[in-house]
Amino acid sequence: MLKGKNAVVTGATGVIGGAIARAFADARANVLVGGFGAPEEIEKLRADLTARSGGAALHSGADMRRPDEIGRLIELAQKQLGSVDILVNNAGIQHVAPVETFPPEKWDEIIAVNLTAAFHAIRAAVAQMKARRWGRIVNIASVHGLVASPDKGAYVAAKHGLVGLTRTVALETAPFGVTCNAICPGWVDTPLVREQIAARAAKEGRSPDAIAAAMLQEKHPSRAFVEPEQIGAAVVFLCSPAGAAITGAAIPMDGGWVAQ
Ligand code: NAD
Repeated sequence: MLKGKNAVVTGATGVIGGAIARAFADARANVLVGGFGAPEEIEKLRADLTARSGGAALHSGADMRRPDEIGRLIELAQKQLGSVDILVNNAGIQHVAPVETFPPEKWDEIIAVNLTAAFHAIRAAVAQMKARRWGRIVNIASVHGLVASPDKGAYVAAKHGLVGLTRTVALETAPFGVTCNAICPGWVDTPLVREQIAARAAKEGRSPDAIAAAMLQEKHPSRAFVEPEQIGAAVVFLCSPAGAAITGAAIPMDGGWVAQ
């Protein structure tokens, strides 16, 4: 379905980004994946993507805190693949603490990776999309782009900012065949959430399984985690012809969290 299209997915060495990259490869797109990781794991991911797509799969270890490295990541895709038709801003980090003890350096890092990196990547890729009159930008925000939770000041601020950036870019690009949307997942069982489960388990003296169940009970009427593959499929849908009229949307995928 996306044969001949070139997609960049940041943070694709992680769980959600990996699922998005695989969904693109299954749709026959070429993919450049970003993110940190052990070289042998990255090679395994690259080989899996090529086997699925029959096309190209590249990796960039660009640090998304660094605007110059983000520029080089987009340039690498433009040079090696020929273009960036699809950009998925997915790299993200978390830190949980009340605002009065929130470490300022963690604030800076979360805003840099979860928000500012998307600005730099879009800025570098969007002119060529507009010129070709086709492009898809998908920002992986969060339910925390739509509602807040305590102790997540930096993350909530970054994700609300990312939803705002999504809407602005959507308005700027709508006349040029380019769409820009945000996906807003609830709980997905990934290292980013496992860290929070482990911290709460230690604090409350309960098992990680009990905490995971309590978190779903508190926030997800579905009582189920969102699956990374469901997010991958939603991203591919937004890039398909059926998704062409959807732009500027912040789409919750949260088992009903923000409907409450
Ligand atoms: P993850 O920890 O599995 O993956 C994070 C990815 O980001 C990794 O590939 C990592 O290498 C990359 N990354 C982190 N810092 C980086 C940096 N400085 N430079 C380059 N790459 C960097 O996390 P995940 O849960 O798959 O999260 C992916 C995205 O989904 C994030 O934006 C996160 O906020 C969002 N999200 C996650 C959940 C959830 O419940 N897990 C819910 C809503 C939104």
